[in-house]
Order: sequence, then C-alpha cells, then structure tokens
Amino acid sequence: MSTNSSSTTLSPYQTFTSTLREVGASMNAHPDIIELLSKPQRIIQVQLPVQRDNGSTDVYHGYRVQHNNARGPYKGGIRFHPSVSLNEVKALAAWMTLKTAVVNIPFGGAKGGINIDPLKLSDQELQRLSRSFIEHLGPIIGPATDIPAPDINTNAQVMAWFTDEYMKLNGHREHTIATFTGKPLSLGGSQGREAATGRGGLFALQEYLEQSGQNHQGLTIAVQGFGNVGAHFARLADQAGFKIVAISDAAGGIYHQSGLDITAVIKARAAGGQLNKNLCYPKLTVKNAGPAATDCQQITNQELLTTAVDILVPAAIENQITAQNAGQIKAKIILELANGPISYPADQLLKNLPIIPDILANAGGVTASYYEWTQNLQNLYWEESEVNTRLELTMRRAMREVLNEQTSHPDLSLRQAAYQLAINRLQEAILLRSWVRPRSQDTVGHLNNRR
Ligand code: NAD
Repeated sequence: MSTNSSSTTLSPYQTFTSTLREVGASMNAHPDIIELLSKPQRIIQVQLPVQRDNGSTDVYHGYRVQHNNARGPYKGGIRFHPSVSLNEVKALAAWMTLKTAVVNIPFGGAKGGINIDPLKLSDQELQRLSRSFIEHLGPIIGPATDIPAPDINTNAQVMAWFTDEYMKLNGHREHTIATFTGKPLSLGGSQGREAATGRGGLFALQEYLEQSGQNHQGLTIAVQGFGNVGAHFARLADQAGFKIVAISDAAGGIYHQSGLDITAVIKARAAGGQLNKNLCYPKLTVKNAGPAATDCQQITNQELLTTAVDILVPAAIENQITAQNAGQIKAKIILELANGPISYPADQLLKNLPIIPDILANAGGVTASYYEWTQNLQNLYWEESEVNTRLELTMRRAMREVLNEQTSHPDLSLRQAAYQLAINRLQEAILLRSWVRPRSQDTVGHLNNRR
C-alpha cells in the first residue's frame, strides 16, 4: 500500500489500521494485541424496512459495530447519513476505543449508523426508523454492555425515541435509562452534554496553547461543519476571545477577516438564514467590521479548508483533508473535532503541523456521556457547572498526558502520541484479562511478581 502517493485515497478504516500498525510497531506493542485491535469484536448489520407516509416501503441498512470492550462497556454514537457504510462505522467504532482510553474513562468503543438522509423523511418516518433500529439492537445494548449516543444527524429527540423503544422491550428496570446518553434533560439527560464536544475541544486547544506558551486572544479560526459540534465550538471560542473568520456547513460557508459574530450567526440561522446564501449581511453577523463589513465573502468548503488562519477546525465528516489538498493547508494548528477528517496519506504529508487528533480533541462528548451514565446509575443530577468543571479537568489532563508522551518520544506526532497512550492503556487491560499471553518484556500488574 502506498502511503504518500498524491492519488491515494484511503477509506476511514484503512486510515485507522494504518496508524494503529505504524504506532504499534514503533512502540513495540504486543503484536497479538495490535492484531486484536485491528478488527472489531462484533458486527451487527440489519435491514430496516420503513413504511413511508404515502404507504410505500423503503429499505435502509443499519450497522452497530462493537469494536472492543477490554476497558469497559462498548460506547459510541449512532449516525444517520447517506454515506454511512460498514467500513465507516468500523473506523468510527475503533476510534471510540482509542478515545475512551485517551481520556481514561471506563468504556470501550462502538459506533452505529443508518444509510439515510434524514432530511428526506418526515418526523413520523424518522421515528419509525429509529424505533425499528432499536428493536434490532435491543438484545445487544444495555447500561452494562453497550451505550449508544448521538452523532451526525441524531439528537436528543432521536435518543428519546431510542430510550422509549428500549424501555418498551425491556421494561422500566433499574438503570435502563442509562442505556443511552445524549438524552433530553427531562428523560435523564445531563446538563452540559449537548455542548460538551465543542467545549471539550476548546479546553484541549486552550491547554495546548498554554503549554506551548501561546496567547490565544485574537488567534483566527476557520470551522468546517456548523452542527452540534462545530456551532457550539465556534460560539464558545468566539466568547473566549478567538476570532472566528470562517464557518461552513454542507452547502458552503462565509468568511470575513474581521471575525464573525457567532451568536448572531446562530440566531440568524435559527430564523431561516443559510450560510451559503444570505448570512453575509454586514451588521447581522460580522464583528466590529464597520464599512469593511461588505467584504464578507461566500466560500466553498474547499476554500475554507485552505484559508490562511491560525487554527483550522474540521467539524463535519471524514476524509476532508486528503493527499490532494494537504499541500494547500495554510493553518498553523489543526483541531480535529470531526472523526477522521484527515486521511492517513494527508496526515503523513502534514507531519510537521501540530494536529490535535480526533481521539483527543472530540473526546469531550463521550466524557460528558460518561457523566450522564454515572448520574443515571446513581439517580443523581449534577449542575451544569459541575459537569463543565469535570470536563475541563479531564480534557486538559488528557491534553497534557498526550504532550508528555510526545516529550518522552519526540519523534511522535500528537496523533501518534495519543495512539501510543491509548494502546498502552488497552494493552494493560487486555493483558490483565489474559486475552493474550504476555511476552517476557510485558509488565502486567501482579503477574510480574510471580515470574
Ligand atoms: P451534526 O449533524 O450536528 O452536524 C454536522 C455538520 O457538518 C452540519 O453543519 C453539516 O451541514 C456539515 N456537513 C455535513 N457534510 C458536510 C460536508 N461534506 N462538507 C462540509 N460540511 C458538512 O453532527 P455533529 O454531531 O456536529 O458531528 C460532527 C462531527 O463530530 C462528526 O465527525 C462526528 O462523528 C463528530 N463527533 C460528534 C460528537 C457529538 O457529540 N455529536 C462527538 C464526537 C465527535
């Protein structure tokens, strides 16, 4: 397999396995454990016939991939998107295993998805589809086994349908409510969960800048993807003093060198404004721009990715930065809020750029999901300030631990350092469980004392 050819485009799962094997070899990880982590433990693939409102039937395909549970129950979101495939879900599930290990929370990794464009379904059709998926997944999920959450195009409402359907199938037993996270507050959801991925990414970025002696005030940012993750990140970063100069969604984006007023953009979008059409009106969304506000420009997603900014934040989907456009990236730092936005060959080309990798940068969501699950298991409700304080501690500590790993192994990129940290934690759990026989050089808790 060529890794640096400009024509090579790797699938998300190839990107995952390439980095896993590369880091596994460089750290001399147990080869059997790398082999084990290179494949999911279980794949569930289901056919989902959905009755349309007009009486016809459409058939979709749903997947749940349980990648690894050595460190705790499987954990990971469910995505509704036309590009969902088994390959994509396998990669997303594997990244969850590494992510939960990087932030050191007691979960494994899983992911799910349905190949559907939810905008083409009515609310009733979407509800039927969501419930039908849980009918299939019911036997293999639960608060101690596998805990799904929202991802692209799924939200608290979808989690409410999932929860309700799961309770119909399993009854209102103790802790059933902890089977899903990202639920509405009135159904056992947690304060702070919705904004947690964006907020957690901001904490990781701030810690990185502080550790490298940089002042964040006025640093310019471009954000690709203005959904749950991208919009919350942009709003919080704007409030914290960064200057958000470009944002986009699937249809296109806007740019203004003076910075965008993200709170105003969110308001204007809620009132029907579209990023690719009419959000460039000066006084509405551009900050302190004066007469130059008219310079607000419509940009494409490709233009956004190659804009000259201090920090580029991909927060949409996989494989946005590939070997084809990596050479045009002008940002000085990349914060990967999306999963897998940079393909493996592009990552090789961007080796000298600090990239705060997805398995660290977007771990705020699963961290807050862990807090939601913990509250549900104890019938507790925490204030938002408590959730945010814990989130900040966890994200900043994880960022420092990845930086420390890099300091001890200066040849590693931040992504390789994060993988190494995660693989070490997974290796320890797998050896302690005796799924794999330790080699003479593997130190495993009390077993060493018996040699
Ligand atoms: P979302 O559905 O709320 O928003 C997705 C955004 O990306 C939308 O603005 C959409 O228009 C845009 N988009 C979709 N396709 C695009 C394309 N081809 N080009 C540009 N923009 C495009 O989803 P989300 O929950 O914000 O998830 C975004 C990313 O963050 C995904 O990679 C997801 O896996 C990851 N993530 C999400 C969470 C979470 O808690 N929701 C947690 C960790 C990681």
